[in-house]
Amino acid sequence: MKSSSEIILNKENLQSNWDFLRQHFGDVLISAVVKGNAYGHGINTYIPLAEECGVNHFSVYSANEARQVHSVAGKDTTIMIMGDMNDDDVHWAIDNEIQFFVFDTRRLDYVVKVAKEKKKKALVHIEVETGMHRTGFEPKQIPVLIERLKSFDDELTLQGLCMHFAGAENITNYVRTKQQKILFKKIVKQFEKADLRPKQIHACCSAASMRFPDMHYDMLRIGIMQYGFWPSPEIMVEYMSKKQLVISPLKRIISWKSYVMSIKDVPAGAFVGYGSSFFAHHKMKMAVVPIGYAHGFSRGLSNVGMVLIQGIRVPVIGTVNMNCISVDVSLCGEIDLGDEVIMIGEDGEHEVSVASFGEMSNQLNYELLTRLPHDIPRRIE
Ligand SMILES: *Cc1c(COP(=O)(O)O)cnc(C)c1O
Repeated sequence: MKSSSEIILNKENLQSNWDFLRQHFGDVLISAVVKGNAYGHGINTYIPLAEECGVNHFSVYSANEARQVHSVAGKDTTIMIMGDMNDDDVHWAIDNEIQFFVFDTRRLDYVVKVAKEKKKKALVHIEVETGMHRTGFEPKQIPVLIERLKSFDDELTLQGLCMHFAGAENITNYVRTKQQKILFKKIVKQFEKADLRPKQIHACCSAASMRFPDMHYDMLRIGIMQYGFWPSPEIMVEYMSKKQLVISPLKRIISWKSYVMSIKDVPAGAFVGYGSSFFAHHKMKMAVVPIGYAHGFSRGLSNVGMVLIQGIRVPVIGTVNMNCISVDVSLCGEIDLGDEVIMIGEDGEHEVSVASFGEMSNQLNYELLTRLPHDIPRRIE
């Protein structure tokens, strides 16, 4: 291992997650959301792997991410941009038949102008505001928007009509998401009445897909679940109790590993690391591992994080440094420089899951994963 750590993606588990998603959601197109460097899994490694599992539709947030996906994806793969693009990106997207969200008049006008110049249709998804209050055309703009869209037959392909829920993973947002559903259904009707037919209507992220089967329409935008995580404990409990399952059908595909860089004895009565947050009450053996907060191992894990060495969960002692952590290996057997250290993953009966590590540092799965640096090497297993 040349780098101080590596990320390993498990193909078998990925296939199993996709099998589950397809079987559970049935006959509906699923777009794999791969923003945030494929939720930290690494776009370059993840895209071809997902394609091998039969995925041929990917969604990203920005045009930059779209360019990255485009550079590694197969010819028949569809790419959809859900957010950030500048004017140059609009040219690139139209040239390369990349689909993208249009959520305001400024972008709509620009896209129409460019498509006219190029004499090539843009593949647009009209995003409407239903209560998320992030991006999207306002309900009061819809009648005029519909009339305008009808006049842009030569410039636009109305690829989609869509919205995004403001927290479907959490029951406390029940009223707000319910109102969003009602409003979106109304907007869909307005389009229908005007005889404007988007090719794909879509509204659901992972949580909404699980919770609102009546909102599936033509496509789901699934992020976190494909990587083997539930959008929230609530959604997991709801599903597992309904199905009376004890083992989650979703499997983590990511592991993150490093190695022992240095070993030393610490005498009783000494402080370990910066400051005095860890005091050795007894003589102990300590190992230094070359990953720190610069690598996405949060400082919040100081004195609370756990890693696996020899299949034993060993605690982080002292503060997480920029480039290294110290762990208490007093309970391990013979230990050598270069021995494997698992930050996320399993060894024998023991596992450090992303969730356990997230709870210890109060980070969301989503945040923790996407903070894994781009330059950690990824490989497939
Ligand atoms: C991130 C995102 C998703 C996917 O969300 P998950 O909870 O990871 O499934 C879907 N749609 C939009 C617009 C998003 O930004």
